[in-house]
Amino acid sequence: MSGPRAALVPVPAVGPDDLRLSRLEALLDPVFLSGAGWDAERALLRPSPDHRLLGWSHCSVPGCTVETSNQLCTGCRHRQTDSGLSPEQFIASSPAKKYGGAEGRWLLDERLCRVDGCQRPMHARTVGLCNSHALRCRDLFGRLDPADVPLFLDRSDVRPFQSFGSCRVAACLRLAYNSAGLCLLHSQRWHETLRVDVNADLVEWCRREDGVTVSGVANLRGLPRAVVLVVLGGLQLRTGQGRKTRPSQVNRLARAARHQQVASLRDIDLDGVGGDVKSLAAMLVLDVDRATTTPGEEQRKDQWDLVVLGAAGRIDFTILIQPWLRELAKHWASEDLARRRGGGSGGVVRTHIGSLAELSTTLRLTRLDHGLEPAALGRTDIVAFLTRLGHLEQTETISANRRLQIVRHVRTILRDARDLGMTRAGGCAAGLPGEFGVRAEDIPPPVHVDGPGRALPNEVMNALNDALPLLETRSGRAVRVAVARPASTCSIAEGAGSA
Ligand SMILES: [Zn+2]
Ligand SMILES: [Zn+2]
Ligand SMILES: [Zn+2]
Repeated sequence: MSGPRAALVPVPAVGPDDLRLSRLEALLDPVFLSGAGWDAERALLRPSPDHRLLGWSHCSVPGCTVETSNQLCTGCRHRQTDSGLSPEQFIASSPAKKYGGAEGRWLLDERLCRVDGCQRPMHARTVGLCNSHALRCRDLFGRLDPADVPLFLDRSDVRPFQSFGSCRVAACLRLAYNSAGLCLLHSQRWHETLRVDVNADLVEWCRREDGVTVSGVANLRGLPRAVVLVVLGGLQLRTGQGRKTRPSQVNRLARAARHQQVASLRDIDLDGVGGDVKSLAAMLVLDVDRATTTPGEEQRKDQWDLVVLGAAGRIDFTILIQPWLRELAKHWASEDLARRRGGGSGGVVRTHIGSLAELSTTLRLTRLDHGLEPAALGRTDIVAFLTRLGHLEQTETISANRRLQIVRHVRTILRDARDLGMTRAGGCAAGLPGEFGVRAEDIPPPVHVDGPGRALPNEVMNALNDALPLLETRSGRAVRVAVARPASTCSIAEGAGSA
Protein backbone atom coordinates (compact mmCIF):
# COMPACT_ATOMS: atom_id res chain seq x y z
CA MET A 1 0.00 0.00 0.00
CA SER A 2 1.36 3.37 -0.85
CA GLY A 3 0.30 6.66 0.62
CA PRO A 4 1.66 9.44 2.74
CA ARG A 5 2.51 7.01 5.54
CA ALA A 6 4.49 4.65 3.34
CA ALA A 7 7.62 6.73 3.80
CA LEU A 8 7.61 6.06 7.54
CA VAL A 9 9.34 2.73 7.00
CA PRO A 10 12.16 2.51 4.49
CA VAL A 11 11.27 -0.80 2.90
CA PRO A 12 9.43 -1.78 -0.27
CA ALA A 13 5.66 -1.68 -0.54
CA VAL A 14 3.59 -4.58 0.72
CA GLY A 15 1.84 -7.11 -1.49
CA PRO A 16 -1.93 -6.92 -1.81
CA ASP A 17 -2.47 -10.01 0.36
CA ASP A 18 -0.56 -8.63 3.28
CA LEU A 19 -3.59 -7.03 4.80
CA ARG A 20 -2.46 -7.13 8.43
CA LEU A 21 0.78 -5.31 7.67
CA SER A 22 -0.91 -2.60 5.70
CA ARG A 23 -3.40 -2.20 8.55
CA LEU A 24 -0.50 -1.89 10.93
CA GLU A 25 1.14 0.68 8.73
CA ALA A 26 -2.08 2.66 8.63
CA LEU A 27 -2.06 2.63 12.43
CA LEU A 28 1.38 4.20 12.67
CA ASP A 29 1.13 7.72 13.97
CA PRO A 30 3.68 10.17 12.53
CA VAL A 31 3.43 12.25 15.70
CA PHE A 32 4.38 9.28 17.87
CA LEU A 33 7.21 8.28 15.52
CA SER A 34 8.70 11.72 15.42
CA GLY A 35 8.42 12.02 19.21
CA ALA A 36 10.16 8.66 19.50
CA GLY A 37 13.02 9.94 17.35
CA TRP A 38 12.32 7.60 14.44
CA ASP A 39 14.66 8.30 11.53
CA ALA A 40 12.97 6.44 8.68
CA GLU A 41 15.72 7.12 6.19
CA ARG A 42 18.39 5.50 8.32
CA ALA A 43 16.06 3.10 10.20
CA LEU A 44 17.24 4.32 13.58
CA LEU A 45 15.09 4.94 16.63
CA ARG A 46 16.70 7.63 18.74
CA PRO A 47 14.35 8.85 21.47
CA SER A 48 15.45 11.70 23.66
CA PRO A 49 16.73 10.58 27.08
CA ASP A 50 13.93 12.77 28.51
CA HIS A 51 11.09 11.01 26.63
CA ARG A 52 8.49 10.11 29.24
CA LEU A 53 8.24 6.42 28.30
CA LEU A 54 11.06 5.77 25.83
CA GLY A 55 13.66 7.81 27.69
CA TRP A 56 16.80 6.35 29.17
CA SER A 57 19.17 7.27 31.93
CA HIS A 58 22.74 8.06 31.07
CA CYS A 59 26.06 8.77 32.76
CA SER A 60 26.18 12.01 34.77
CA VAL A 61 29.52 13.13 33.37
CA PRO A 62 28.89 16.20 31.16
CA GLY A 63 28.78 15.21 27.51
CA CYS A 64 28.87 11.46 28.22
CA THR A 65 25.72 9.82 26.82
CA VAL A 66 26.51 6.21 27.72
CA GLU A 67 23.33 4.49 28.93
CA THR A 68 23.60 3.37 32.53
CA SER A 69 21.36 3.13 35.54
CA ASN A 70 24.33 4.15 37.73
CA GLN A 71 25.71 7.62 38.32
CA LEU A 72 28.75 6.91 36.15
CA CYS A 73 29.19 4.60 33.16
CA THR A 74 31.90 1.92 33.36
CA GLY A 75 34.44 3.98 31.41
CA CYS A 76 33.89 7.12 33.47
CA ARG A 77 33.92 5.06 36.67
CA HIS A 78 37.42 3.79 35.76
CA ARG A 79 38.64 7.30 34.98
CA GLN A 80 37.11 8.61 38.21
CA THR A 81 38.85 5.88 40.25
CA ASP A 82 42.18 6.65 38.56
CA SER A 83 41.72 10.38 39.19
CA GLY A 84 41.48 9.94 42.96
CA LEU A 85 38.49 12.34 42.97
CA SER A 86 35.09 11.62 44.45
CA PRO A 87 32.39 10.94 41.83
CA GLU A 88 30.90 14.40 42.51
CA GLN A 89 34.30 16.12 42.13
CA PHE A 90 34.99 14.08 38.99
CA ILE A 91 31.65 15.06 37.44
CA ALA A 92 32.20 18.74 38.31
CA SER A 93 35.72 18.77 36.89
CA SER A 94 35.09 16.76 33.72
CA PRO A 95 35.63 18.71 30.53
CA ALA A 96 32.63 18.08 28.32
CA LYS A 97 34.61 18.36 25.12
CA LYS A 98 36.52 15.17 25.69
CA TYR A 99 33.47 12.96 25.28
CA GLY A 100 31.07 15.52 24.10
CA GLY A 101 29.06 16.44 21.13
CA ALA A 102 27.83 14.21 18.39
CA GLU A 103 26.24 11.14 19.89
CA GLY A 104 25.95 9.72 16.39
CA ARG A 105 29.65 10.09 15.77
CA TRP A 106 30.56 6.43 16.27
CA LEU A 107 27.52 5.36 14.38
CA LEU A 108 28.13 7.45 11.30
CA ASP A 109 31.87 8.04 11.34
CA GLU A 110 31.70 10.18 8.28
CA ARG A 111 34.80 12.23 8.85
CA LEU A 112 36.56 12.23 5.54
CA CYS A 113 40.21 12.22 4.59
CA ARG A 114 41.93 15.63 4.74
CA VAL A 115 43.02 15.48 1.09
CA ASP A 116 40.86 18.00 -0.75
CA GLY A 117 37.91 16.22 -2.38
CA CYS A 118 38.89 12.75 -1.15
CA GLN A 119 35.72 10.71 -0.49
CA ARG A 120 37.25 8.07 1.75
CA PRO A 121 36.94 8.02 5.55
CA MET A 122 39.82 8.89 7.82
CA HIS A 123 41.70 5.82 8.83
CA ALA A 124 44.33 6.98 11.30
CA ARG A 125 42.83 9.96 13.10
CA THR A 126 46.27 11.11 14.20
CA VAL A 127 47.19 11.92 10.61
CA GLY A 128 43.67 12.56 9.32
CA LEU A 129 44.16 10.64 6.10
CA CYS A 130 42.24 7.78 4.52
CA ASN A 131 43.89 4.40 4.33
CA SER A 132 45.03 4.90 0.72
CA HIS A 133 46.52 8.34 1.35
CA ALA A 134 48.13 7.19 4.58
CA LEU A 135 49.95 4.45 2.63
CA ARG A 136 50.95 6.98 -0.01
CA CYS A 137 52.23 9.38 2.62
CA ARG A 138 54.26 6.65 4.30
CA ASP A 139 55.81 5.64 0.96
CA LEU A 140 56.83 9.24 0.23
CA PHE A 141 58.24 10.13 3.66
CA GLY A 142 59.43 6.72 4.78
CA ARG A 143 57.24 6.99 7.89
CA LEU A 144 53.75 8.06 8.92
CA ASP A 145 54.02 11.15 11.10
CA PRO A 146 51.44 13.93 11.63
CA ALA A 147 54.24 16.46 11.09
CA ASP A 148 54.61 15.33 7.47
CA VAL A 149 50.92 15.64 6.62
CA PRO A 150 50.88 19.39 5.71
CA LEU A 151 53.75 18.78 3.27
CA PHE A 152 51.91 15.77 1.87
CA LEU A 153 48.71 17.77 1.43
CA ASP A 154 50.62 20.55 -0.45
CA ARG A 155 51.97 18.19 -3.09
CA SER A 156 50.49 18.70 -6.53
CA ASP A 157 50.60 14.97 -7.29
CA VAL A 158 48.30 14.08 -4.38
CA ARG A 159 44.85 13.52 -5.89
CA PRO A 160 41.56 12.73 -4.16
CA PHE A 161 40.17 9.21 -4.28
CA GLN A 162 36.62 8.11 -5.04
CA SER A 163 34.52 6.64 -2.29
CA PHE A 164 34.37 2.89 -1.70
CA GLY A 165 30.72 3.43 -0.88
CA SER A 166 28.95 2.45 2.32
CA CYS A 167 30.02 -0.43 4.51
CA ARG A 168 28.47 -3.65 3.21
CA VAL A 169 27.17 -4.64 6.66
CA ALA A 170 23.42 -4.01 6.45
CA ALA A 171 23.23 -2.61 9.98
CA CYS A 172 26.22 -0.29 9.53
CA LEU A 173 26.12 3.39 8.62
CA ARG A 174 29.83 3.92 8.17
CA LEU A 175 31.75 4.37 4.94
CA ALA A 176 33.87 1.53 3.58
CA TYR A 177 37.56 2.15 4.08
CA ASN A 178 38.96 -0.38 1.63
CA SER A 179 38.07 -2.12 -1.61
CA ALA A 180 36.51 -5.03 0.35
CA GLY A 181 33.65 -2.62 1.06
CA LEU A 182 33.84 -2.76 4.85
CA CYS A 183 34.38 0.00 7.38
CA LEU A 184 37.40 -0.29 9.62
CA LEU A 185 35.44 -1.82 12.50
CA HIS A 186 33.69 -4.41 10.34
CA SER A 187 36.89 -5.18 8.51
CA GLN A 188 38.41 -6.09 11.87
CA ARG A 189 35.34 -8.09 12.91
CA TRP A 190 35.30 -9.93 9.59
CA HIS A 191 38.91 -10.98 10.01
CA GLU A 192 38.11 -12.22 13.52
CA THR A 193 35.22 -14.20 12.06
CA LEU A 194 37.49 -15.74 9.43
CA ARG A 195 39.91 -16.80 12.11
CA VAL A 196 37.13 -18.81 13.76
CA ASP A 197 35.52 -20.05 10.53
CA VAL A 198 37.59 -19.99 7.33
CA ASN A 199 34.50 -20.87 5.30
CA ALA A 200 32.40 -17.94 6.55
CA ASP A 201 30.37 -16.33 3.78
CA LEU A 202 30.89 -12.57 3.59
CA VAL A 203 27.50 -11.78 2.03
CA GLU A 204 25.64 -13.78 4.68
CA TRP A 205 27.82 -12.35 7.44
CA CYS A 206 27.09 -8.80 6.28
CA ARG A 207 23.36 -9.48 6.58
CA ARG A 208 23.53 -10.78 10.14
CA GLU A 209 26.29 -8.70 11.68
CA ASP A 210 25.59 -6.03 14.31
CA GLY A 211 26.04 -2.37 13.61
CA VAL A 212 27.89 -0.09 15.98
CA THR A 213 26.15 -0.02 19.35
CA VAL A 214 25.40 3.48 20.55
CA SER A 215 23.61 4.36 23.78
CA GLY A 216 20.02 5.44 23.31
CA VAL A 217 19.84 4.22 19.71
CA ALA A 218 17.83 1.22 18.53
CA ASN A 219 19.20 0.22 15.15
CA LEU A 220 16.51 -1.37 12.96
CA ARG A 221 18.61 -1.45 9.80
CA GLY A 222 18.74 -4.61 7.75
CA LEU A 223 15.47 -5.97 9.19
CA PRO A 224 12.50 -7.05 7.06
CA ARG A 225 9.63 -4.65 6.77
CA ALA A 226 7.34 -6.96 8.75
CA VAL A 227 9.70 -6.87 11.72
CA VAL A 228 10.25 -3.10 11.58
CA LEU A 229 6.51 -2.45 11.40
CA VAL A 230 5.73 -4.69 14.36
CA VAL A 231 8.47 -3.08 16.44
CA LEU A 232 7.28 0.45 15.65
CA GLY A 233 3.57 -0.31 15.79
CA GLY A 234 3.97 -2.36 18.96
CA LEU A 235 5.99 0.41 20.59
CA GLN A 236 3.34 2.94 19.69
CA LEU A 237 0.59 0.79 21.21
CA ARG A 238 2.62 -0.01 24.31
CA THR A 239 3.64 3.59 24.81
CA GLY A 240 -0.02 4.53 24.44
CA GLN A 241 -0.76 2.15 27.32
CA GLY A 242 1.77 4.03 29.45
CA ARG A 243 4.42 1.29 29.43
CA LYS A 244 8.11 2.14 29.46
CA THR A 245 10.63 0.74 27.00
CA ARG A 246 14.34 1.44 26.83
CA PRO A 247 15.97 1.85 23.41
CA SER A 248 18.62 -0.67 24.44
CA GLN A 249 15.90 -3.31 24.86
CA VAL A 250 14.60 -2.59 21.37
CA ASN A 251 18.16 -2.71 20.06
CA ARG A 252 18.84 -6.12 21.62
CA LEU A 253 15.62 -7.41 20.10
CA ALA A 254 16.62 -5.99 16.70
CA ARG A 255 20.05 -7.60 16.97
CA ALA A 256 18.55 -11.01 17.68
CA ALA A 257 16.13 -10.60 14.76
CA ARG A 258 19.03 -9.66 12.48
CA HIS A 259 21.30 -12.49 13.64
CA GLN A 260 18.53 -15.00 13.07
CA GLN A 261 17.27 -13.33 9.89
CA VAL A 262 13.68 -13.94 10.98
CA ALA A 263 10.85 -12.94 8.67
CA SER A 264 8.58 -12.25 11.64
CA LEU A 265 9.07 -11.50 15.34
CA ARG A 266 6.86 -14.51 16.02
CA ASP A 267 9.68 -16.80 14.83
CA ILE A 268 12.42 -15.30 16.95
CA ASP A 269 14.35 -17.36 19.52
CA LEU A 270 15.22 -15.13 22.47
CA ASP A 271 16.84 -17.68 24.75
CA GLY A 272 19.87 -16.04 26.24
CA VAL A 273 18.83 -12.53 25.21
CA GLY A 274 17.19 -11.65 28.53
CA GLY A 275 13.75 -11.99 30.04
CA ASP A 276 12.96 -8.31 29.57
CA VAL A 277 13.53 -8.54 25.81
CA LYS A 278 11.59 -11.79 25.64
CA SER A 279 8.54 -10.27 27.27
CA LEU A 280 8.92 -7.11 25.20
CA ALA A 281 8.83 -9.17 21.99
CA ALA A 282 5.83 -11.17 23.17
CA MET A 283 3.93 -8.01 24.04
CA LEU A 284 4.78 -6.23 20.81
CA VAL A 285 3.46 -9.21 18.84
CA LEU A 286 0.35 -9.58 21.01
CA ASP A 287 -0.53 -5.88 20.95
CA VAL A 288 -0.05 -5.68 17.19
CA ASP A 289 -2.10 -8.84 16.65
CA ARG A 290 -4.94 -7.41 18.67
CA ALA A 291 -4.80 -4.06 16.96
CA THR A 292 -4.80 -5.50 13.45
CA THR A 293 -7.39 -8.25 13.85
CA THR A 294 -11.05 -7.50 13.27
CA PRO A 295 -13.63 -9.10 15.61
CA GLY A 296 -14.95 -11.10 12.65
CA GLU A 297 -11.49 -12.53 11.95
CA GLU A 298 -10.97 -13.40 15.59
CA GLN A 299 -14.31 -15.19 15.74
CA ARG A 300 -13.35 -17.43 12.84
CA LYS A 301 -10.55 -18.87 14.99
CA ASP A 302 -11.03 -21.77 17.40
CA GLN A 303 -9.36 -19.87 20.22
CA TRP A 304 -10.48 -16.33 20.84
CA ASP A 305 -8.49 -13.52 22.33
CA LEU A 306 -11.39 -11.69 23.95
CA VAL A 307 -9.51 -8.40 24.06
CA VAL A 308 -10.13 -8.15 20.31
CA LEU A 309 -13.83 -8.51 21.10
CA GLY A 310 -13.91 -5.91 23.85
CA ALA A 311 -13.79 -8.34 26.78
CA ALA A 312 -10.97 -9.95 28.77
CA GLY A 313 -9.27 -13.35 28.70
CA ARG A 314 -9.49 -16.12 26.15
CA ILE A 315 -12.00 -18.76 25.11
CA ASP A 316 -10.83 -22.10 23.77
CA PHE A 317 -13.49 -23.77 21.64
CA THR A 318 -11.33 -26.78 20.88
CA ILE A 319 -12.73 -28.39 24.03
CA LEU A 320 -15.82 -29.02 21.88
CA ILE A 321 -14.87 -31.90 19.62
CA GLN A 322 -17.88 -31.96 17.27
CA PRO A 323 -17.30 -29.35 14.54
CA TRP A 324 -21.00 -28.41 14.37
CA LEU A 325 -21.16 -27.94 18.14
CA ARG A 326 -18.00 -25.82 18.05
CA GLU A 327 -19.54 -23.59 15.36
CA LEU A 328 -22.78 -23.39 17.30
CA ALA A 329 -20.86 -22.37 20.43
CA LYS A 330 -18.87 -19.71 18.57
CA HIS A 331 -22.02 -18.25 17.04
CA TRP A 332 -23.73 -18.26 20.43
CA ALA A 333 -20.69 -16.74 22.17
CA SER A 334 -20.39 -13.92 19.64
CA GLU A 335 -24.06 -13.03 20.19
CA ASP A 336 -23.73 -13.28 23.94
CA LEU A 337 -20.55 -11.21 24.17
CA ALA A 338 -22.08 -8.50 22.02
CA ARG A 339 -25.11 -8.47 24.29
CA ARG A 340 -23.29 -8.44 27.64
CA ARG A 341 -20.46 -5.95 27.08
CA GLY A 342 -19.04 -5.90 30.55
CA GLY A 343 -15.86 -6.61 32.44
CA GLY A 344 -16.95 -10.10 33.46
CA SER A 345 -18.62 -11.06 30.19
CA GLY A 346 -15.64 -13.15 29.05
CA GLY A 347 -15.75 -15.25 32.20
CA VAL A 348 -19.50 -15.80 31.93
CA VAL A 349 -19.29 -16.95 28.31
CA ARG A 350 -16.24 -19.11 29.06
CA THR A 351 -18.13 -20.89 31.86
CA HIS A 352 -21.02 -21.58 29.50
CA ILE A 353 -18.64 -23.09 26.93
CA GLY A 354 -17.12 -25.20 29.70
CA SER A 355 -20.63 -26.48 30.48
CA LEU A 356 -21.29 -27.23 26.82
CA ALA A 357 -18.08 -29.27 26.79
CA GLU A 358 -19.80 -31.74 29.12
CA LEU A 359 -22.46 -32.30 26.47
CA SER A 360 -19.73 -32.69 23.86
CA THR A 361 -17.96 -35.28 25.99
CA THR A 362 -21.16 -37.21 26.60
CA LEU A 363 -21.88 -37.42 22.87
CA ARG A 364 -18.32 -38.56 22.21
CA LEU A 365 -18.50 -41.25 24.87
CA THR A 366 -22.00 -42.55 24.30
CA ARG A 367 -22.57 -42.42 20.56
CA LEU A 368 -21.02 -44.59 17.86
CA ASP A 369 -20.76 -41.54 15.58
CA HIS A 370 -19.42 -39.49 18.53
CA GLY A 371 -22.17 -36.97 17.92
CA LEU A 372 -20.67 -35.67 14.70
CA GLU A 373 -24.03 -35.61 12.90
CA PRO A 374 -26.54 -33.20 14.50
CA ALA A 375 -29.54 -34.62 12.61
CA ALA A 376 -28.94 -38.04 14.16
CA LEU A 377 -29.30 -36.81 17.73
CA GLY A 378 -32.41 -37.14 19.85
CA ARG A 379 -33.97 -37.20 23.29
CA THR A 380 -31.96 -40.28 24.31
CA ASP A 381 -28.76 -38.28 23.99
CA ILE A 382 -30.10 -35.63 26.33
CA VAL A 383 -31.09 -38.34 28.78
CA ALA A 384 -27.60 -39.82 28.52
CA PHE A 385 -26.16 -36.37 29.19
CA LEU A 386 -28.33 -35.79 32.28
CA THR A 387 -27.60 -39.28 33.56
CA ARG A 388 -23.88 -38.80 33.19
CA LEU A 389 -24.03 -35.50 35.11
CA GLY A 390 -25.93 -37.25 37.90
CA HIS A 391 -23.24 -39.89 37.98
CA LEU A 392 -20.49 -37.27 38.08
CA GLU A 393 -22.17 -35.65 41.06
CA GLN A 394 -22.59 -38.95 42.86
CA THR A 395 -18.93 -39.77 42.38
CA GLU A 396 -18.11 -36.25 43.61
CA THR A 397 -16.39 -35.32 40.34
CA ILE A 398 -18.61 -32.25 40.20
CA SER A 399 -20.66 -30.53 42.88
CA ALA A 400 -24.43 -30.32 42.94
CA ASN A 401 -24.18 -26.62 42.14
CA ARG A 402 -21.98 -27.25 39.16
CA ARG A 403 -24.33 -29.94 37.90
CA LEU A 404 -27.21 -27.52 38.12
CA GLN A 405 -25.17 -24.84 36.39
CA ILE A 406 -24.15 -27.15 33.53
CA VAL A 407 -27.75 -28.18 32.85
CA ARG A 408 -28.95 -24.57 32.88
CA HIS A 409 -26.13 -23.40 30.62
CA VAL A 410 -26.70 -26.15 28.06
CA ARG A 411 -30.43 -25.46 28.12
CA THR A 412 -29.79 -21.79 27.43
CA ILE A 413 -27.30 -22.39 24.62
CA LEU A 414 -29.43 -24.98 22.79
CA ARG A 415 -32.52 -22.83 23.07
CA ASP A 416 -30.68 -19.69 21.90
CA ALA A 417 -29.18 -21.66 19.00
CA ARG A 418 -32.68 -22.49 17.79
CA ASP A 419 -33.86 -18.91 18.28
CA LEU A 420 -30.87 -17.68 16.28
CA GLY A 421 -31.73 -19.99 13.37
CA MET A 422 -28.70 -22.26 13.69
CA THR A 423 -30.81 -25.42 13.29
CA ARG A 424 -32.34 -24.26 10.01
CA ALA A 425 -31.12 -25.60 6.66
CA GLY A 426 -27.71 -24.11 5.98
CA GLY A 427 -27.14 -23.39 9.68
CA CYS A 428 -24.26 -24.93 11.61
CA ALA A 429 -26.64 -27.26 13.46
CA ALA A 430 -28.96 -27.91 10.50
CA GLY A 431 -31.38 -30.75 11.16
CA LEU A 432 -30.84 -30.82 14.92
CA PRO A 433 -34.16 -32.34 16.13
CA GLY A 434 -36.39 -30.27 18.36
CA GLU A 435 -36.33 -32.86 21.14
CA PHE A 436 -32.57 -32.40 21.49
CA GLY A 437 -32.91 -29.79 24.19
CA VAL A 438 -33.10 -29.52 27.95
CA ARG A 439 -36.65 -29.32 29.32
CA ALA A 440 -37.60 -27.45 32.47
CA GLU A 441 -38.30 -30.80 34.16
CA ASP A 442 -34.72 -31.92 33.40
CA ILE A 443 -33.23 -29.29 35.66
CA PRO A 444 -32.06 -30.85 38.94
CA PRO A 445 -33.66 -29.53 42.13
CA PRO A 446 -31.89 -26.60 43.77
CA VAL A 447 -29.34 -27.40 46.46
CA HIS A 448 -30.67 -26.39 49.87
CA VAL A 449 -28.44 -25.67 52.81
CA ASP A 450 -30.15 -25.12 56.14
CA GLY A 451 -28.69 -23.86 59.38
CA PRO A 452 -26.63 -20.92 60.47
CA GLY A 453 -25.10 -20.42 57.01
CA ARG A 454 -28.37 -18.86 55.94
CA ALA A 455 -27.93 -16.13 58.49
CA LEU A 456 -24.74 -14.85 56.84
CA PRO A 457 -25.08 -11.53 55.03
CA ASN A 458 -25.47 -11.73 51.27
CA GLU A 459 -22.05 -10.18 50.54
CA VAL A 460 -20.35 -12.85 52.62
CA MET A 461 -22.30 -15.59 50.91
CA ASN A 462 -21.43 -14.13 47.51
CA ALA A 463 -17.73 -14.06 48.34
CA LEU A 464 -17.85 -17.62 49.65
CA ASN A 465 -19.75 -18.76 46.63
CA ASP A 466 -17.22 -17.19 44.28
CA ALA A 467 -14.41 -18.95 46.10
CA LEU A 468 -16.05 -22.37 45.99
CA PRO A 469 -13.96 -23.88 43.20
CA LEU A 470 -10.78 -22.83 45.00
CA LEU A 471 -12.01 -24.09 48.36
CA GLU A 472 -12.95 -27.38 46.80
CA THR A 473 -9.53 -27.74 45.19
CA ARG A 474 -7.74 -26.97 48.43
CA SER A 475 -9.89 -28.65 51.03
CA GLY A 476 -12.00 -31.21 49.24
CA ARG A 477 -15.61 -31.47 48.43
CA ALA A 478 -16.83 -31.56 52.00
CA VAL A 479 -15.99 -27.88 52.30
CA ARG A 480 -17.98 -27.04 49.22
CA VAL A 481 -21.02 -28.90 50.47
CA ALA A 482 -20.74 -27.15 53.82
CA VAL A 483 -20.46 -23.71 52.27
CA ALA A 484 -22.64 -23.91 49.17
CA ARG A 485 -25.58 -21.58 49.32
CA PRO A 486 -29.03 -22.47 48.07
CA ALA A 487 -29.08 -22.52 44.29
CA SER A 488 -32.37 -20.64 44.25
CA THR A 489 -30.60 -17.50 45.40
CA CYS A 490 -27.16 -18.13 44.01
CA SER A 491 -25.57 -15.79 41.54
CA ILE A 492 -24.20 -18.38 39.15
CA ALA A 493 -24.06 -16.77 35.77
CA GLU A 494 -26.92 -17.56 33.49
CA GLY A 495 -27.46 -17.19 29.80
CA ALA A 496 -30.16 -14.96 28.43
CA GLY A 497 -33.53 -15.73 29.86
CA SER A 498 -32.43 -18.89 31.69
CA ALA A 499 -35.07 -20.69 33.66
ZN1 LIG B 1 30.31 8.16 31.16
ZN1 LIG C 1 42.06 10.14 1.11
ZN1 LIG D 1 30.70 -1.20 8.95
